[in-house]
Amino acid sequence: MKTLADIAAELEGYDPQALSVDRAQDFLARLMEPITDTEVVEVFAALDRVLAQDVISPVSVPPHDNSAMDGYAFMGGQLVPDEALTLTSVGTALAGQAWQGTVSAGQCLRIMTGAVMPAGLDTVVPQELASVSGQQIRIPANALRCGDNRRCLGEDLLAGSIALHQGTALRPAALGLLASLGVAKVTVLRRLRVAYFSTGNEILSLGQAACEGSVYDSNRYTVFGLLTRLGCEVIDLGVVRDEPELLEAAFTQAAARADAIITSGGVSVGEADYTKLMMKKLGDVAFWKIGMRPGRPMAVGRIGKAMLFGLPGNPVAVMVTFLVFVRGALTQMMGSTAKAAPLLRARSTQAMVKKPGRTEYQRGVVSTGADGRLQVQITGNQGSGVLSSMVQANGLIVLHHDQGPVALGGEVDVMMFDGAI
Ligand code: AMP
Ligand code: MG
Repeated sequence: MKTLADIAAELEGYDPQALSVDRAQDFLARLMEPITDTEVVEVFAALDRVLAQDVISPVSVPPHDNSAMDGYAFMGGQLVPDEALTLTSVGTALAGQAWQGTVSAGQCLRIMTGAVMPAGLDTVVPQELASVSGQQIRIPANALRCGDNRRCLGEDLLAGSIALHQGTALRPAALGLLASLGVAKVTVLRRLRVAYFSTGNEILSLGQAACEGSVYDSNRYTVFGLLTRLGCEVIDLGVVRDEPELLEAAFTQAAARADAIITSGGVSVGEADYTKLMMKKLGDVAFWKIGMRPGRPMAVGRIGKAMLFGLPGNPVAVMVTFLVFVRGALTQMMGSTAKAAPLLRARSTQAMVKKPGRTEYQRGVVSTGADGRLQVQITGNQGSGVLSSMVQANGLIVLHHDQGPVALGGEVDVMMFDGAI
C-alpha cells in the first residue's frame, strides 16, 4: 500500500498547493487500490457489478449453424452466375425443432429464422426473394451468394474462449451474453462501501427548522445519488457539527465501516473549523489546491484503510469534483476497467472568458443545431452554489488548463452527464 509521500516522490514537481487537474487525477490513480472480496450472484442481480474473474464460455454461440431469415435452405454450390435456380422443397424446419431428413442437390428446405441448418446446407434464400409455385422454388439470377443468410456455429463466441473479461462492469448487453451462454451465476467483486457526511454548523438536515444563516444540506443528497448511480453501497452519516469529538467519532465510524469516505465542506483555506484538523490527526491526508473552477480545495488520503475524499462545501463544486476525481477513483477501487466516456465536441453559442492556467467547468446544455451539428449553451448563473444550473445542464463544458478565451461559435469539449447525474 503506497503512502501519500511515496506517490509525491514518484511525481516530479508535485506541489499540493498548485496542482493541475491532470496531475491530481494521476496522483489518485496511483493511490487507489481495487478491492478483492468477491461474491457469487445470479445474472439478474449482476447488473452494474464488476466481474472478479474472466468468464469462459462453456458453449459455442450459436451452438449450431442456423438460418438468419425465413426462407429456403439449400446447397449454395448450385448457384451459377447469371442463372436462375429452381429447387424442389422437401419439408419445413422450424426453430427449436431439429428437422430429420436429407436435402439433396436440386432440393431445398423451407426454414424459419433460428432453425438449425441441416448438415450440408449452407445458404438460405429469403422467402421474399423466392418465387413459389407449389413445391417449386425459383431463385432469380444473381440474387444471392453461397453462404448468405446463414449464422455459423460459434460466430458470436466459441466454447473455451473468454466471453467477458475480469473487470468488466456488467451492462445490459453483458447480462444477455451471460444468459446466452447458459451461465446462471457469476463471481463479482463485492459492492464498494462508501460512507459520507456533510460538515458545517450552518448546515441543516431535512426536518430541522430553518434559522438565520442556516442552509439545508444538499450535498448528502447529490452524493447519495452519484454514489448510487455508480453502484456503490452507501452509508449515510448525516450532518456532523463542527465539534472535535463529533468529527472524530464520524471519521472513526466511517473508516471502520467503509472502503471510502466522502465529506463535504471544511477544507478551504482559512477554514476555522475542525474538519481539516481531524483529517490530519486521524489519517495520512494531503490538502490540495487544484487549478480548477469550481472546486479548488480538496483533501485526499487515507483514514485507517479507507480512502478519504474531502470535497469542498459548495454544492456545484461537490458535483464537479466528484465527476472529475472521485468517480474515476472509485471506479478503480471497484475493480472496474471501464474508461470514462470520451468528451464531445460542440460549438459554443456564446463567447467565454477563460484564462490559461486552470481548468474551468461550465454547466451547459448540448443540443443539435439547425445545421445538424452539436452546439452547447451555458446554463445561466455559473455560481458554485447554484444547483439549479446543474439540474438544467446535460453536461459540463471543459475549458482545459492551457486553453484561453472561447470565441462565439468556437468548438469546446463537453463531458456529458449520461447516466451519472
Ligand atoms: P465550506 O467549504 O465549508 O466553506 O463551504 C462552502 C459553502 O458551501 C458555504 O456557503 C456552505 O454553506 C456551503 N455548504 C457547505 N456544505 C454544504 C451542504 N452540505 N449543503 C449545502 N451547502 C453547503
Ligand atoms: Mg464549512
